[in-house]
Amino acid sequence: MTDRLEIIKSTKRKAKPDAGNLVFGKQFSDHMLMMDYLEGEGWINPRIVPYEPISLDPAAMVFHYGQSVFEGLKAYRTEDERILLFRPEKNLQRLNRSSDRLSIPAIDEEKVLGYLKEFLKLEKDWIPTAEGTSLYIRPFIFATEPNLSVAPSKAYTFMVILSPVGSYYAEGIHPVGIYVENSYTRAVRGGTGTAKTAGNYSAAYKAQERATEMGQSQVLWLDGVEKKYIEEVGSMNVFFKINGEVVTPALNGSILEGITRMSILELLKSWGMNVSERRISMEEIYQAYEAGQLEEAFGTGTAAVISPVGELNWDGRKMVINDRQTGPLSKKLYDTLTGIQTGRLDDPFNWTT
Ligand code: PMP
Repeated sequence: MTDRLEIIKSTKRKAKPDAGNLVFGKQFSDHMLMMDYLEGEGWINPRIVPYEPISLDPAAMVFHYGQSVFEGLKAYRTEDERILLFRPEKNLQRLNRSSDRLSIPAIDEEKVLGYLKEFLKLEKDWIPTAEGTSLYIRPFIFATEPNLSVAPSKAYTFMVILSPVGSYYAEGIHPVGIYVENSYTRAVRGGTGTAKTAGNYSAAYKAQERATEMGQSQVLWLDGVEKKYIEEVGSMNVFFKINGEVVTPALNGSILEGITRMSILELLKSWGMNVSERRISMEEIYQAYEAGQLEEAFGTGTAAVISPVGELNWDGRKMVINDRQTGPLSKKLYDTLTGIQTGRLDDPFNWTT
């Protein structure tokens, strides 16, 4: 059987970073999960091996044509030593949708979730327990066939690496400034925006550079065609509360379908709030602001969970939202979601595994 998980334990154990010293994505656990794909054989040889550098042929297709996809999710360890994952099946489904867009063969989501659980049990001690900390899980797939032809690779590697991460908000949840990007485009309908593929992220660096120069912490992306409609904020989905109604851009073929976004929509509906997914223009936001009806704005994603927006800068116009304070809805969503994720609150939706 080639789909039985093989485990080769590391003989050396790395020192674990202290909870107060966790930097995002720089420290990794003792092992890594791997699996190969070969044409004619499918995904084979799932294995957990000591974390170490891998070697690739210089002609490996990922280096040349960028066939690669990834995911990001977190594991939490509860006081009673349970390991909790938040909707991991959604991440694996999205990984397969991303793969499909990049012509990468699908993985077996159920088997991979089983391997991931084994992997987390082995690396349990790497899951930090201090308030706000977690173990970031990074699954990814890349093309390995040595071949310079412009065509899908016939060989791939799937991997998962684990990185203990600190609280996104070292000084507590706080609103950030946003620069509305008018020229660079993140994604267009029919492109790769709905996929978590490497190139989407490197293509966003230039705009982020400009936002940083403008003294803002993130970019707000507009649609790539008319440059009027709101898509996302940095690598987060975005919500606005306007005159009591919560709105978020509808999935339109260029927005990444966030799992936090999906969960927030379900939460808000369960609270009986007025919520809609629809097209939202920057002009509408500005009008609402001028009318004193723009109550809150926040980004949503695995990393920060909720990231309140304190200021929007659009074409020389500055909108200060809720006096640059975290709004009551942002706070309630943050507390509820993180409560469910960490097992501190009941999970009426059965989101955690
Ligand atoms: N948009 C983009 C472009 C992202 O990379 C992410 C992070 N995966 C999100 C939105 C938020 O998605 P999620 O809530 O699943 O983390």
